[in-house]
Amino acid sequence: MRVLIKNGLIVNADGQAKQDLLIEDGLVKCLADTLEVEPPCETIDASGCYVMPGGVDVHTHFNIDTGIARSCDDFFTGTRAAACGGTTTIVDHMGFGPPGCSLHHQLAVYHDYAAYKAVIDYSFHGVIQHVNHAVLDDIPRMVEAGISSFKLYLTYQYKLNDDELLRVMRHLHSAGALTTVHPENDAAIAQKRAGFISAGKTAPRYHALSRPLECEAEAIARTINLAQLAGNAPLYIVHLSNGLGLDYLRIARARRQPVWVETCPQYLLLDDRCYEREDALKFILSPPLRNTSNNDDLWCGVVDGSIDTIATDHCAFSMTQRQQLSGGDFSRCPNGLPGVENRLLLLFSHGVMTGRISTQRFVALTSANPAKLFGLWPQKGLLAPGSDADIVIIDPKRTTTIHHAALHDNADYSPWEGFICQGALRQTFARGRLIFDNGTFTGSAGQGRFLRRNPFNAAHASGTES
Ligand code: MN
Ligand code: MN
Repeated sequence: MRVLIKNGLIVNADGQAKQDLLIEDGLVKCLADTLEVEPPCETIDASGCYVMPGGVDVHTHFNIDTGIARSCDDFFTGTRAAACGGTTTIVDHMGFGPPGCSLHHQLAVYHDYAAYKAVIDYSFHGVIQHVNHAVLDDIPRMVEAGISSFKLYLTYQYKLNDDELLRVMRHLHSAGALTTVHPENDAAIAQKRAGFISAGKTAPRYHALSRPLECEAEAIARTINLAQLAGNAPLYIVHLSNGLGLDYLRIARARRQPVWVETCPQYLLLDDRCYEREDALKFILSPPLRNTSNNDDLWCGVVDGSIDTIATDHCAFSMTQRQQLSGGDFSRCPNGLPGVENRLLLLFSHGVMTGRISTQRFVALTSANPAKLFGLWPQKGLLAPGSDADIVIIDPKRTTTIHHAALHDNADYSPWEGFICQGALRQTFARGRLIFDNGTFTGSAGQGRFLRRNPFNAAHASGTES
């Protein structure tokens, strides 16, 4: 099966050119100023449109069981929504397993979750929920199985202490894996939270007030220093929400420490005024939304290169689930936002079309950099001969208003309801197959393949700076 995409502006992280692109057998076959191809070949006219590598979203939680609830998107509805938002690869953060379980336990569980369901290619980050010799010894076998990054939590039920953090980061580093961390100071949050709850202050605004940005920034600074102490282990901070944390990361970067950071559209474009709304429960997530001056700080990082990736942290609990479980009490509300379908267009509209970032930087943030950091480059994140034909076509002249009714996830609301985006997604191809076409999902469950990711590659990772 061949597809010729003609007359588009092909954008990669390192440049763009008006070229034709030929897809053959699921791969990018060739690019040239003008390509003429003998039939049979389907032709798509992309005049006036950007033709870009499909999005790589390295932070989702599909089908996650948090103990109080299971998220409402599984690997079918979640990847269907991703596909309709121009994302062609996801790397999902596994949830916690039973107490004391092995690393491979959750890998097997997640293979079962995703098999026959995923529409797009997928992989998983391992999760380290306790530390002992068996877990540490198992890390190299996980890397061999294609799991070359792991998540550590500094808060929640399975938070690691400093001793555990040091040991794990050392082992991950020597096994060729990247450490990713959810950084929040658990003790500080616990104190605040207990104070509010005992005073009967349980409205959604107290969710944000119980986790001030210093909780996150402190944990970022501590983790950076522990990573250095663990033999200069490479470190990736997830879902950065504030400017102070970014400043600590800039200091580390200036000292040539191997650290990278992700933010999410909600921390760039939503703010803590959401907690004053009548539907504030929709915006409970951790870290919480911050004020607009932090939005501005993060945009500076997106523009100046100190933020490396943009992911979604898609973790959807419906409004029905939120209300039923919490009764309006923040401390009982499941955390997380849907958004896997909205990432590319939000950043395209609010980043590229406003003139804040170039199209190349857009591709770096949404596709090339995550592929480089997480062992998928150059199969993913690049339009070049031999790369997977994972492609999104964006029309900058059209306008899209986000309405949940038109989205493809399984939630019952969107935090982006009513957002107006300059630009529209026209088509998504995954390994050469058309899976989204002008508003309609055209893929099918089970098309996505598990991606056995390569070990962390310092040379690729250092190519994320721009
Ligand atoms: Mn998190
Ligand atoms: Mn998360």
